Amino acid sequence: MGRARPDFRRLLPAGTGGRVRAVTPPQRYRMRVPQTGREIIRDAEPGTIYVDRESGETLTIVGKVLPLSPSKSRLPWAVEHLRFCPWCDQLAQRDLNDCPSCGRRMDPLD
Ligand SMILES: [Zn+2]
Repeated sequence: MGRARPDFRRLLPAGTGGRVRAVTPPQRYRMRVPQTGREIIRDAEPGTIYVDRESGETLTIVGKVLPLSPSKSRLPWAVEHLRFCPWCDQLAQRDLNDCPSCGRRMDPLD
């Protein structure tokens, strides 16, 4: 563990590593446990089967969670997470600094 040792992974050009990272962030899905009706929200990859940790049941996909991937926001598209852009009056997620509609910087929230 020498202090001067370079981080060799950072020196590799993109794509030469063992695993190529996905460019787009994973899409989040609403999934339901069929037996109990309990719903969870989690990232999911297409073609993968997800199983409930408690019951071992296969989860049913109910729907995609807005905003769709890719988006800078991590908040579900719901009233409590939205505000109006002061420039264009369109709805924007509260965790965004720049309006997704007009691209302008929005005022910080208090
Ligand atoms: Zn705007």
